[in-house]
Amino acid sequence: MKCIFCSIAEKSIPAKVEYEDTEVVAFHDINPQAPTHILVIPRKHIASLRDISQAHVELMGKLLKISSELARKLGHEERGYRVVINTGPDAGQSVFHIHAHLLAGRSLGWPPG
Ligand code: AMP
Repeated sequence: MKCIFCSIAEKSIPAKVEYEDTEVVAFHDINPQAPTHILVIPRKHIASLRDISQAHVELMGKLLKISSELARKLGHEERGYRVVINTGPDAGQSVFHIHAHLLAGRSLGWPPG
């Protein structure tokens, strides 16, 4: 079966897209854990942070830059936000196409569960 986030990037599965360019797509999480919960993904299929190599350094920097730009655009610059990349079973990764969660709009507990 095709990767669900590849399908979203290709628009064969619908999503509420907040931002896209030739390399990155950002869309709202289907099961939001905060008032703002956006997933920022590369169009290129990379399963997880465990698969990152030197070739992905610029792309990963771009994921972070777009996350911060979206946080600013959506009004979270002052109160702050969290960007999370769950990796592997202990972190609860459930979709194996790398994604940064942008969470904002409420006070977020620490340490995470
Ligand atoms: P993770 O557990 O870090 O792998 O996060 C996967 C996230 O993808 C979860 O927060 C899910 O709610 C979200 N998700 C799964 N399917 C979809 C979908 N079709 N559209 C938007 N978000 C999704």
